[in-house]
Amino acid sequence: MTAHPLFDISGRTALVTGSSRGIGLALARGLAEAGCTVVLNGRDAGRLAEAAADLPGEVRTAVFDVTDAPAVAAGIADVEERVGPLDILVNNAGMQLRAPLLEFADADWHRILDTNLTSAFLVGREAARRMTARGHGKIINICSLQSEVVRPGIAPYAATKGALKMLTKGMCADWGPHGVQVNGLGPGYIETELTRPLVEDEEFSAWVRRRTPAGRWGRTEDLVGGLLFLASPAADFVGGQVLYVDGGMTSVL
Ligand code: NDP
Repeated sequence: MTAHPLFDISGRTALVTGSSRGIGLALARGLAEAGCTVVLNGRDAGRLAEAAADLPGEVRTAVFDVTDAPAVAAGIADVEERVGPLDILVNNAGMQLRAPLLEFADADWHRILDTNLTSAFLVGREAARRMTARGHGKIINICSLQSEVVRPGIAPYAATKGALKMLTKGMCADWGPHGVQVNGLGPGYIETELTRPLVEDEEFSAWVRRRTPAGRWGRTEDLVGGLLFLASPAADFVGGQVLYVDGGMTSVL
């Protein structure tokens, strides 16, 4: 039996920001396995080259810092020139900083906002300029269960992810009429470098397992199906939504 044609995204070109490791790399692998030409992004050329060598199909790399507006403009222009018109953009690059709000430094506040929120505006705007002119494109912003809920010590992170959810809806409102669809994917607790301190904290780790209806931490591969759906024609009438892939955690108290 073959897959339904609504899920066919082979031949598309996709850029995944922050894909040198973790969730971004798993999403890039999923897109490559679905037949896309994939462009990996990050700040470290060596690490990107290593990641690219391990993926199937046609994989390219684009080294730029997603918080640096001129670098983003040059980076997207370069990708379109070298690889071709972008059909799919995944705004995934992000970071976490854990500290009580009263101890949170100004510089850290700006850094986390720039990395998690401003980056999606900068990269999204550059890609959407081209996608809207062509009349089609899919943008998927990687939100978080913390777009909905928060815990002590991660207020700035939750603020960036909550705002990213609303930016997703706003992008949909502005660019949807021009054929560009924008949605969010909201991971729950997923084992990556970003969550390593939490995974290694046995008490917290057990709390995540108890608190998640699915009874376990998420794996990066758990996110691939949701992304492929949002990137495919099967989601052509889905706009401004965040699909939470969190083992059910966002839904229960
Ligand atoms: P990792 O820390 O494992 O990976 C982060 C990636 O982002 C790396 O590839 C890093 O590349 C890249 N990156 C960071 N800053 C920049 C920058 N300024 N410019 C370009 N690339 C950058 O994180 P995860 O894989 O865990 O997280 C990925 C996304 O998923 C983030 O947006 C995160 O908030 C979100 N998320 C994660 C969850 C989890 O449980 N892990 C839960 C919910 C959401 P390099 O350092 O090589 O430049």
